[in-house]
Amino acid sequence: MARFIYKYGAMNCGKTTQLLQNAHQYTEIGDKVLILKPAKDKKGDTKIVSRIGASQEVDYLISPRDNIIRLITEGDNVLTSCIMVDEAQFLTPTQVEQLRIIVSKFDIDVFAYGLRTDFKTKAFPGSIRLMELCDKMEEINQSLCECGEPAIFNARFVNGKMVTEGAQVAIDGFDSVTYKPMCAKCYYLKKAVSEEKPLMRSKKKHNDLH
Ligand SMILES: [Zn+2]
Repeated sequence: MARFIYKYGAMNCGKTTQLLQNAHQYTEIGDKVLILKPAKDKKGDTKIVSRIGASQEVDYLISPRDNIIRLITEGDNVLTSCIMVDEAQFLTPTQVEQLRIIVSKFDIDVFAYGLRTDFKTKAFPGSIRLMELCDKMEEINQSLCECGEPAIFNARFVNGKMVTEGAQVAIDGFDSVTYKPMCAKCYYLKKAVSEEKPLMRSKKKHNDLH
Protein backbone atom coordinates (compact mmCIF):
# COMPACT_ATOMS: atom_id res chain seq x y z
CA MET A 1 0.00 0.00 0.00
CA ALA A 2 1.35 3.41 -0.96
CA ARG A 3 2.14 5.88 1.80
CA PHE A 4 2.06 9.62 2.29
CA ILE A 5 5.10 10.72 4.30
CA TYR A 6 5.78 14.23 5.56
CA LYS A 7 9.42 14.83 6.45
CA TYR A 8 9.90 18.11 8.22
CA GLY A 9 12.68 20.01 9.87
CA ALA A 10 14.24 23.44 10.29
CA MET A 11 16.20 25.09 7.49
CA ASN A 12 19.53 23.48 6.59
CA CYS A 13 18.47 20.17 8.14
CA GLY A 14 19.37 18.22 5.02
CA LYS A 15 15.84 17.81 3.60
CA THR A 16 16.90 18.23 -0.03
CA THR A 17 19.88 15.91 0.38
CA GLN A 18 17.53 13.23 1.76
CA LEU A 19 15.08 13.83 -1.09
CA LEU A 20 17.79 13.35 -3.72
CA GLN A 21 19.06 10.17 -2.02
CA ASN A 22 15.53 8.82 -1.71
CA ALA A 23 14.77 9.58 -5.37
CA HIS A 24 17.99 7.85 -6.40
CA GLN A 25 16.96 4.67 -4.57
CA TYR A 26 13.70 4.55 -6.52
CA THR A 27 15.24 5.22 -9.93
CA GLU A 28 18.00 2.67 -9.29
CA ILE A 29 15.43 -0.14 -9.23
CA GLY A 30 13.79 1.21 -12.37
CA ASP A 31 10.92 3.12 -10.77
CA LYS A 32 9.73 6.39 -12.21
CA VAL A 33 9.94 9.31 -9.79
CA LEU A 34 8.45 12.75 -10.28
CA ILE A 35 10.09 15.64 -8.47
CA LEU A 36 7.91 18.67 -7.79
CA LYS A 37 8.66 22.04 -6.30
CA PRO A 38 6.28 24.91 -5.60
CA ALA A 39 7.12 27.85 -7.86
CA LYS A 40 7.03 30.11 -4.79
CA ASP A 41 10.50 28.83 -3.94
CA LYS A 42 12.52 31.00 -6.31
CA LYS A 43 15.82 29.64 -5.02
CA GLY A 44 17.55 27.38 -7.50
CA ASP A 45 15.07 28.29 -10.27
CA THR A 46 13.92 24.99 -11.84
CA LYS A 47 16.39 22.96 -9.82
CA ILE A 48 16.46 21.70 -6.30
CA VAL A 49 19.83 22.26 -4.72
CA SER A 50 21.10 20.62 -1.57
CA ARG A 51 23.44 22.18 0.95
CA ILE A 52 26.24 19.84 -0.09
CA GLY A 53 25.96 21.03 -3.69
CA ALA A 54 24.03 18.16 -5.30
CA SER A 55 21.25 19.36 -7.55
CA GLN A 56 18.59 18.05 -9.86
CA GLU A 57 16.20 19.54 -12.35
CA VAL A 58 12.60 19.30 -11.13
CA ASP A 59 9.95 17.66 -13.32
CA TYR A 60 7.32 20.28 -12.47
CA LEU A 61 7.24 23.68 -10.84
CA ILE A 62 3.87 23.87 -9.12
CA SER A 63 1.91 27.13 -9.15
CA PRO A 64 -0.82 27.70 -6.56
CA ARG A 65 -3.53 27.09 -9.19
CA ASP A 66 -2.09 23.82 -10.51
CA ASN A 67 -4.05 20.64 -9.96
CA ILE A 68 -1.57 17.87 -9.12
CA ILE A 69 -4.12 15.11 -9.84
CA ARG A 70 -4.53 16.43 -13.38
CA LEU A 71 -0.77 16.47 -13.78
CA ILE A 72 -0.51 12.82 -12.69
CA THR A 73 -3.14 11.65 -15.13
CA GLU A 74 -1.35 13.29 -18.08
CA GLY A 75 0.73 11.15 -20.47
CA ASP A 76 2.88 8.49 -18.84
CA ASN A 77 2.91 10.24 -15.47
CA VAL A 78 0.38 7.67 -14.30
CA LEU A 79 3.23 5.12 -14.43
CA THR A 80 5.00 7.04 -11.66
CA SER A 81 5.83 5.01 -8.55
CA CYS A 82 6.67 7.92 -6.37
CA ILE A 83 6.31 11.69 -6.08
CA MET A 84 8.77 13.78 -4.11
CA VAL A 85 8.01 17.37 -3.22
CA ASP A 86 10.68 19.80 -2.07
CA GLU A 87 9.69 22.90 -0.03
CA ALA A 88 6.27 21.30 0.46
CA GLN A 89 5.22 23.95 3.00
CA PHE A 90 4.53 26.18 -0.02
CA LEU A 91 1.85 23.88 -1.45
CA THR A 92 -1.69 25.09 -0.95
CA PRO A 93 -3.89 23.06 1.45
CA THR A 94 -5.91 21.97 -1.63
CA GLN A 95 -2.78 20.64 -3.31
CA VAL A 96 -1.91 18.65 -0.18
CA GLU A 97 -5.40 17.11 -0.39
CA GLN A 98 -4.71 16.27 -4.03
CA LEU A 99 -1.55 14.45 -2.98
CA ARG A 100 -3.55 12.48 -0.39
CA ILE A 101 -5.97 11.39 -3.13
CA ILE A 102 -3.09 10.43 -5.45
CA VAL A 103 -1.57 8.15 -2.77
CA SER A 104 -4.84 6.35 -2.14
CA LYS A 105 -6.31 6.30 -5.63
CA PHE A 106 -3.24 5.71 -7.80
CA ASP A 107 -1.12 3.77 -5.28
CA ILE A 108 1.77 6.23 -5.65
CA ASP A 109 4.11 6.93 -2.70
CA VAL A 110 4.39 10.60 -1.84
CA PHE A 111 7.24 12.09 0.16
CA ALA A 112 6.76 15.74 1.07
CA TYR A 113 9.82 17.51 2.45
CA GLY A 114 9.29 20.83 4.11
CA LEU A 115 9.42 23.25 6.98
CA ARG A 116 6.98 22.95 9.84
CA THR A 117 6.97 26.61 10.84
CA ASP A 118 7.81 30.08 9.52
CA PHE A 119 10.07 32.74 11.08
CA LYS A 120 7.30 33.63 13.60
CA THR A 121 7.07 29.96 14.71
CA LYS A 122 3.66 29.64 13.00
CA ALA A 123 2.89 26.70 10.74
CA PHE A 124 2.52 27.30 7.01
CA PRO A 125 -1.00 26.53 5.69
CA GLY A 126 0.49 23.70 3.57
CA SER A 127 2.34 22.28 6.60
CA ILE A 128 -0.84 22.19 8.67
CA ARG A 129 -2.64 20.19 5.98
CA LEU A 130 0.37 17.88 5.62
CA MET A 131 0.32 17.17 9.36
CA GLU A 132 -3.40 16.48 9.16
CA LEU A 133 -3.39 14.20 6.12
CA CYS A 134 -0.11 12.29 6.01
CA ASP A 135 0.25 8.65 7.05
CA LYS A 136 3.42 9.41 8.93
CA MET A 137 5.42 12.45 10.02
CA GLU A 138 9.15 12.18 10.47
CA GLU A 139 11.37 14.87 11.90
CA ILE A 140 14.71 15.45 10.19
CA ASN A 141 16.74 16.82 13.02
CA GLN A 142 20.11 17.55 11.55
CA SER A 143 20.41 21.30 11.78
CA LEU A 144 22.04 22.83 14.79
CA CYS A 145 21.54 26.18 16.43
CA GLU A 146 24.71 28.26 16.80
CA CYS A 147 24.74 27.24 20.50
CA GLY A 148 25.05 23.59 19.47
CA GLU A 149 21.53 22.47 20.40
CA PRO A 150 19.21 20.96 17.75
CA ALA A 151 17.33 23.72 15.90
CA ILE A 152 13.55 23.66 15.60
CA PHE A 153 12.82 27.24 14.50
CA ASN A 154 13.91 29.45 11.58
CA ALA A 155 14.87 32.99 12.52
CA ARG A 156 14.68 35.60 9.75
CA PHE A 157 17.31 38.29 9.37
CA VAL A 158 17.04 41.38 7.16
CA ASN A 159 20.39 43.06 6.55
CA GLY A 160 21.75 40.95 9.39
CA LYS A 161 19.13 42.04 11.96
CA MET A 162 16.65 39.51 13.35
CA VAL A 163 13.04 40.42 12.50
CA THR A 164 9.79 39.06 13.88
CA GLU A 165 7.36 40.99 11.68
CA GLY A 166 6.71 40.77 7.94
CA ALA A 167 5.20 38.57 5.25
CA GLN A 168 5.14 34.84 5.92
CA VAL A 169 7.07 34.08 2.74
CA ALA A 170 10.42 35.77 1.98
CA ILE A 171 12.92 33.62 0.16
CA ASP A 172 16.40 33.12 1.55
CA GLY A 173 18.93 35.17 -0.39
CA PHE A 174 16.42 37.61 -1.91
CA ASP A 175 15.84 41.22 -0.70
CA SER A 176 18.64 41.02 1.92
CA VAL A 177 16.77 38.19 3.72
CA THR A 178 18.67 35.36 5.35
CA TYR A 179 17.66 32.68 7.85
CA LYS A 180 19.32 30.90 10.73
CA PRO A 181 18.09 27.66 12.27
CA MET A 182 17.67 28.14 16.03
CA CYS A 183 16.79 26.25 19.19
CA ALA A 184 13.78 27.59 21.12
CA LYS A 185 15.89 29.10 23.89
CA CYS A 186 18.07 31.17 21.54
CA TYR A 187 15.07 32.11 19.39
CA TYR A 188 13.14 33.65 22.29
CA LEU A 189 16.21 35.30 23.80
CA LYS A 190 17.15 36.91 20.48
CA LYS A 191 13.52 37.78 19.74
CA ALA A 192 13.28 39.67 23.05
CA VAL A 193 16.48 41.57 22.26
CA SER A 194 15.32 42.44 18.72
CA GLU A 195 11.97 43.70 20.01
CA GLU A 196 13.41 45.74 22.85
CA LYS A 197 12.42 49.39 22.48
CA PRO A 198 15.26 51.96 22.46
CA LEU A 199 13.53 53.72 25.40
CA MET A 200 13.58 50.55 27.51
CA ARG A 201 17.18 50.01 26.63
CA SER A 202 18.23 53.45 27.83
CA LYS A 203 16.13 53.02 30.98
CA LYS A 204 17.88 49.75 31.68
CA LYS A 205 21.24 51.44 31.23
CA HIS A 206 20.15 54.19 33.57
CA ASN A 207 19.19 51.64 36.25
CA ASP A 208 22.46 49.82 35.79
CA LEU A 209 24.30 52.98 36.78
CA HIS A 210 22.61 53.14 40.17
ZN1 LIG B 1 20.48 27.74 20.63
